[in-house]
Amino acid sequence: MKLVVIPGDGIGPETMSVTVDVLKALDQRFGLGLQMEHAIAGKESLAKHGTTIAPGLLDLVKNSDGLMLGPMSTYEFKDESKGEINPSKFFRINLDLYANIRPAKTFPNVPTRMDPFDLVVVRENTEGFYADRNVESGNSEILVTKDVVISLRRITRLCCERIAKSAFELAMTRKKHVTIVHKANVLQIADGMFIDICHEVGKSYPEVTIDDFIVDAMMALVARDPGKFDTIVTTNMFGDILSDLTAELSGSLGLGGSLNAGDNFAMGQAAHGSAPDIADQDIANPFSLMTSAAMLLNWYGGRKQLPHYVQASQALEKAIEEAIDARETTKDIGGTLGTKATGQAIVRKIQLAA
Ligand code: ATP
Ligand code: MG
Repeated sequence: MKLVVIPGDGIGPETMSVTVDVLKALDQRFGLGLQMEHAIAGKESLAKHGTTIAPGLLDLVKNSDGLMLGPMSTYEFKDESKGEINPSKFFRINLDLYANIRPAKTFPNVPTRMDPFDLVVVRENTEGFYADRNVESGNSEILVTKDVVISLRRITRLCCERIAKSAFELAMTRKKHVTIVHKANVLQIADGMFIDICHEVGKSYPEVTIDDFIVDAMMALVARDPGKFDTIVTTNMFGDILSDLTAELSGSLGLGGSLNAGDNFAMGQAAHGSAPDIADQDIANPFSLMTSAAMLLNWYGGRKQLPHYVQASQALEKAIEEAIDARETTKDIGGTLGTKATGQAIVRKIQLAA
């Protein structure tokens, strides 16, 4: 597998560095034949090339089999005409990575106020309120006067259908329960269509039970009892917000892994941002990025019928669970180790794995 690795901003470089060590250990242990190609994007690229996405980067990625993208400092990227392109948005659009899969689950030794839960948010990744993430539609924010802005939200049948299908397929590998999250009481036409299409797609999965909740009520229900949920499908912005909540309820945003998947390509990326408040202090939790790497290996192994990739993915998840059991973790989830030492602990577990 040819894998492009982009460290990103803030806590990106330190968490990606240990994730690469872990990938190398998996490569040795499982004979993956990983060819890792290191590239830059974001602030580092802006300083060096005058743009966050240098010419040729997209081709490099398109000619690879997968991408690991570090977190990006999006607040500072405001003006595309100055080369300040949001790299997450750029790859999601240009590779049409429409399904953002964001699991969240509790672990016995991670402090949390919640009862155990294990769910996954399936977030539509290409339209909704972030429809400017689609090149063809142009910008979805309109400055009417200097004091009035209109933000448009685009919902299309095609995108509803494919995200619903992703959710039901995933639910079939889990507890076979899909929850549709929407705001159809206010956004009647758009979210009415979203719900209808999800139910329509659900007809092809008769074993899967379905319910639906308005997004505000859903926030309360998830905060009360996340154990009630299995696979949650929702539009872009609701999924963005809900998945931060579910990751944090599981113990820390630092546990939030994610996979951005299209039909033929996938990108592993932590669900959180660049966390500048804790950058360069060797305290960031690398499990979010490592979990994203595990998801990418699993996706690739499934697509290409390569069982050793799936085994490598499972071994990484198991190593993370064992590290959590042994409290060999960063302090956000109750451990005492730094980012580097946590990475080394995972590498050792992979090397020792039977
Ligand atoms: P960005 O602008 O890049 O989104 P942000 O300021 O919104 O950055 P987030 O990355 O979204 O920051 O993080 C929100 C909070 O969660 C921060 O307080 C951060 O320290 C914490 N956090 C995020 N990721 C991790 C991690 N991997 N390990 C520990 N804490 C984290
Ligand atoms: Mg953020």
